[in-house]
Amino acid sequence: MNIPPVDLVRQYKLISEEIDTAVLDVIKSGRYIGGAAVDNFESQFAQYVGTTECIGCNSGTDALYLALRSLNIGPEDEVITSPFTFIATAETISLVGATPIFADIDRNTFNIELNCLEKAITPKTKAIIPVHLFGQPVNMTGLMEIAQKYNLYVIEDCAQATGAKWGDKQVGNIGHIGCFSFFPTKNLGTCGDGGAVTTNDPAIAATIRTIKEHGSQVRYYHDMVGINSRLDSIQGAILQVKLRYLDRWNAQRREVVKRYHELLNAISGIQLPQEISGGYHVWNQYSILIEQKEITDKLYRDQIREKLQEQGIISMIYYPIPLHLQKVYQGLGYQEGAFPVTEKASREVLSLPMFPDITFEEQQRVAYGLKDALG
Ligand SMILES: *Cc1c(COP(=O)(O)O)cnc(C)c1O
Repeated sequence: MNIPPVDLVRQYKLISEEIDTAVLDVIKSGRYIGGAAVDNFESQFAQYVGTTECIGCNSGTDALYLALRSLNIGPEDEVITSPFTFIATAETISLVGATPIFADIDRNTFNIELNCLEKAITPKTKAIIPVHLFGQPVNMTGLMEIAQKYNLYVIEDCAQATGAKWGDKQVGNIGHIGCFSFFPTKNLGTCGDGGAVTTNDPAIAATIRTIKEHGSQVRYYHDMVGINSRLDSIQGAILQVKLRYLDRWNAQRREVVKRYHELLNAISGIQLPQEISGGYHVWNQYSILIEQKEITDKLYRDQIREKLQEQGIISMIYYPIPLHLQKVYQGLGYQEGAFPVTEKASREVLSLPMFPDITFEEQQRVAYGLKDALG
């Protein structure tokens, strides 16, 4: 039996009755767009995150796009983010016509490094998008100080960190806007696409509601160019069920991490992921670093990954190519070497199988497999 990176069916089986009922209720109601299923989820999720507002939308990508649009960010503006993230974070900056500016990461957290961030600020900078990568919250105390000093907006990319906290605050309730994804493999994942924006600013929320409804407040009267971005009613119903389990699942993820730490601690040549103090990490990924001695054609990490695969252990690489070196961003003019910590991490990172219900026996197999592969 292979050990997959995530096992969504295993999770479904544990709550299948509740999910099936929720889905069937929507189908039987005939209300497939909007309605109570979405409204109730939005208010429950706002309450969970601690914000006054939550707007459901089609995806985490849309959430970021809507957030940027609502702040009027566009051509001539620069937005700073991490080069070590999923493409959507930077892509949406480009989609609104603004320029993504990258700042290197910290090797121990995989998150944007605050000194690098501050150095990237120019008079054109309008906003920062901190990404709480792999479930690890960014040091939001330090980040908000920088944002206040330079009068910048902060849009949190919480796609991988639903339920994570910085201090006693949930991510998504610290910056001006929080953006969430409910893609199936996220900590709060639905059975399809979904996303949400959170904020405590009613004006921002109203603008986002207008943009996601084709720029319309009153139907067939259009005030601005908008899009269609909806959280489906079926997804809203599923998410209400799953939200009740989120804290338990995140706690389980933390137990899984404790076991991985114990199993892998003694292995040399790898660096285990760490939780920074002040944060509550929710471990969407358990990403180790496999030290690359020198750059050769074939990365040592890739060799290890293949050996694991031969043993039925499926690991993932998030992310093999930093955003500043992607073809799409050649025009930005970044060269190889611009962000050495990110570039090294992209050659060394390997994400091991990680989901709340992974068993101890499976984790032991991963550990033995890794020891064996590292020889
Ligand atoms: C998943 C993800 C997104 C995009 O979410 P989608 O729902 O897939 O559009 C954005 N940012 C990060 C960091 C992500 O991991």
